Amino acid sequence: MKDKYLIINAGSSSLKFSLYEMPSTKEIVNGYIQKIGDSDSFYTLKYKGQKVDKEREIKNHKQAVEVMLEELKENKFITSIDEIKGVGHRVLHGGEYYSSSTLIDEEVLKNIKSLTKLGPLHHPGEIAGIEGMMEVLENVPQVAVFDTAFHQTMPKKNYLYAVPYSWYKENGVRKYGFHGTSHNYITNKMKDHLKKDDVNLIICHIGSGASIACIKGGVCYDTTMGLTPLDGLIMGTRSGSIDPSILEYISKERGISLEKITEELNKKSGLIGLAGKNDFRDLSKASQKGDEKATLALNMFYNSVTKYIAQYYFELESEVDALVFTAGIGENAYIFRENIMNRISKATGVKLDKEVNESIPSKLEKGIISTEDSSFEVIVEPTNEEYMILMDTYNVSRG
Ligand code: ADP
Repeated sequence: MKDKYLIINAGSSSLKFSLYEMPSTKEIVNGYIQKIGDSDSFYTLKYKGQKVDKEREIKNHKQAVEVMLEELKENKFITSIDEIKGVGHRVLHGGEYYSSSTLIDEEVLKNIKSLTKLGPLHHPGEIAGIEGMMEVLENVPQVAVFDTAFHQTMPKKNYLYAVPYSWYKENGVRKYGFHGTSHNYITNKMKDHLKKDDVNLIICHIGSGASIACIKGGVCYDTTMGLTPLDGLIMGTRSGSIDPSILEYISKERGISLEKITEELNKKSGLIGLAGKNDFRDLSKASQKGDEKATLALNMFYNSVTKYIAQYYFELESEVDALVFTAGIGENAYIFRENIMNRISKATGVKLDKEVNESIPSKLEKGIISTEDSSFEVIVEPTNEEYMILMDTYNVSRG
């Protein structure tokens, strides 16, 4: 009987799961349950190239967990639930409580609940997923893997905002940073690649959500996302940093509430706000066809990335070991990488190897896209948050 580990990503009405065999890290099956709480809930299982869809009313997350386990047993992915040795949960916010993944007990659950005010869109679903799992698999270790944890090494001078200090002390207003699981994974990869631990890196995680992390001496020193994932770079649908006075001004001008404004800043801003499209491929095509708004949006996006690379280049006093591109756009869009390289090349002394750059991802999955005479390496490295969550779950579950 092989040890198995479940990785869970729970949303307010969904539950995604993957079952792995350990220590081989082989994925056995994955699936997702959608519309939890609706009468037309459905779920999908994917394994060995097969996809099975079923419809069934699923009232809550606990029932979703039960249905998932029934399916795993019925399809012989597990013979008994005793084979499951640990469950990993992706959790958005660990606040200042957690700087690494942790075993969930009553106190941890209480802390995660208390952080709902900082992650109001994510935490209720994640908590429901954890509670559902804890009820059904009460004797199995449950591990929380926080998206903020990796950034807890930031020094105070980088995580504080210049606002009344009591906002930090009494209300927890500070930069927490997100995408920590991805930045952590890439940092580990780079430590292996560069054969040293005290690496200095600029990691560009550029997908629909996007953040850059500055790694100094092997740990996070600064990052672009803040109290919430809205801060920093221009993203697919998020504004990134803007003048905070816009909020009061636009509230009065348009007669809309702060909640509505925050929603528009999260869902209707960024590339979609500027050009009506948030998918990088669609924007690139539109720009090539002469759509001026698309060209403007892309140029603003490139400049936004360039500004933070410049900031971190100076924060690292130009002692950079590698600049890394990862996530949907970073891994797949060579045009994006070329545009960034063109903007940073002169100041930093890195030169683009066009041929290697253009061969990723069509011919190569990853690679060094800077020339040998560059001042530091520029690397494309695919991220793998799921792997990081799995390894943390495996290690923390076993104590
Ligand atoms: P998130 O995880 O934040 O939802 P992803 O990391 O999946 O985002 O990235 C999504 C982005 O990656 C989209 O803008 C999409 O256009 C872009 N992307 C994905 N594949 C490609 C590709 N082959 N070429 C260019 N852009 C791509």
